[in-house]
Amino acid sequence: MTSPQYDESEEQAILDAIGRWVEKDVAPHVMDMEHEDVYPHEMVEQMKAFGLFGATISPEYGGLGLSATTYSKIVTLISTEWMSLTGIFNSHLMMAMIVEKFGTESQKRYWLPRFTTGEIRGALALTEPNAGTDLQGITTRATHEGDDYVINGTKTWISNGIEGGAVALLVKTDVDADPPRRGMSMFIAPKLDPETGAPHQGFDTGRKLEKLGYKGIDSAELVFEDYRLDAERHLVSGEEGQGFYMAVGGLELGRINVASRSVGIAQRALSEATAYAQTRRTFGKPIAEHQAIALKLGEMATRTRAAELLTLDAAAHYDAGKRCDMEAGMAKYFASEAAVSNALEAMRVHGGYGYSKEYPIERLYREAPLMCIGEGTNEMQRIIIARQQIARNPA
Ligand SMILES: Cc1cc2nc3c(=O)[nH]c(=O)nc-3n(C[C@H](O)[C@H](O)[C@H](O)COP(=O)(O)OP(=O)(O)OC[C@H]3O[C@@H](n4cnc5c(N)ncnc54)[C@H](O)[C@@H]3O)c2cc1C
Repeated sequence: MTSPQYDESEEQAILDAIGRWVEKDVAPHVMDMEHEDVYPHEMVEQMKAFGLFGATISPEYGGLGLSATTYSKIVTLISTEWMSLTGIFNSHLMMAMIVEKFGTESQKRYWLPRFTTGEIRGALALTEPNAGTDLQGITTRATHEGDDYVINGTKTWISNGIEGGAVALLVKTDVDADPPRRGMSMFIAPKLDPETGAPHQGFDTGRKLEKLGYKGIDSAELVFEDYRLDAERHLVSGEEGQGFYMAVGGLELGRINVASRSVGIAQRALSEATAYAQTRRTFGKPIAEHQAIALKLGEMATRTRAAELLTLDAAAHYDAGKRCDMEAGMAKYFASEAAVSNALEAMRVHGGYGYSKEYPIERLYREAPLMCIGEGTNEMQRIIIARQQIARNPA
């Protein structure tokens, strides 16, 4: 991957354009679409026009080649209005990153231009009904037959699984490998042949999963039954045994992304609470003048700023090509907990209205907890941070 250059004026121009779009074309529709769990087709077309499906893909493959810093700010900005939208291009960009970082040159030239335009959109398909955190426990299997692999198994919770056209699919190619991660491989698994448009037999979209929040974007079960792929185009890197490392190799950027989404939720909860506290009056004065509410605003504002700075720090490390597993883990952990706390505190500031579906607070409250689960649960984040703390500070 080429190293993205940070250009402040270019970044501001992109943020301004996206900010105008969010205000004009997203904000007026979020409340209804979210409550009805409607897939945002028109917004997806608009995001295509902005180039967001190629945001972090290198320009040589048609992408914008944005830095993690600029990308993080875009994700935060959109998440202040509707976090779900960022999932539609983020999971897709994680798939693209696996191809760009690990794919053969011919795989990059084949897949990346199609991903960049959003012609094929997709996601990462790692999780299975019996294996999430413990990825080495997956059972989806690819068996080598001539030049092809035949895949059988079930994935679950796959974002973009219904509306998307392909997934980066983690499988076992050697079920006896010890440790198991050495027997894992990654495939780019399309639903249709990109050239003929003919469906690939054996890739079935199962149920659309019903969720507490993160509405609009589809989360699906995917079933593979004798699904056949040729190795040359689809087995990423052309080699077996690399899949686990590809899956975890994208986690730093994935965590910066979840942290950025969390900052958006935390910021919105703070701004809603700040505005409401100044207009809602009790006992003859705005509630902001009651110390109990002022303390909440003070804590919320501090948490938000700290989350933002940790996230930008992790993105800066990433852009500088420095190791950032600890920084990204801290940002993801802290910012997601900040989003959860701010959403709840904003609800309390709003009193009964915070519980009403006519205000955005109840949505933020439903969206925030997912940030503690995705890209490695916060339980695991703390363990990862602790391991790094010890590794970087040997006794
Ligand atoms: C809305 C949504 C969208 C998602 N999108 C995708 C997607 O696009 N692609 C995809 O592949 N997956 C996706 N996921 C799945 C998500 O990544 C997993 O839910 C997550 O990795 C946790 O796995 P699990 O649910 O199996 O929980 P488990 O792994 O069963 O964990 C259960 C609990 O045990 C804890 N735990 C587990 N192991 C340890 C340990 N060693 N030490 C301490 N605590 C531990 C966990 O932190 C958690 O609290 C999505 C999930 C949701 C809810």
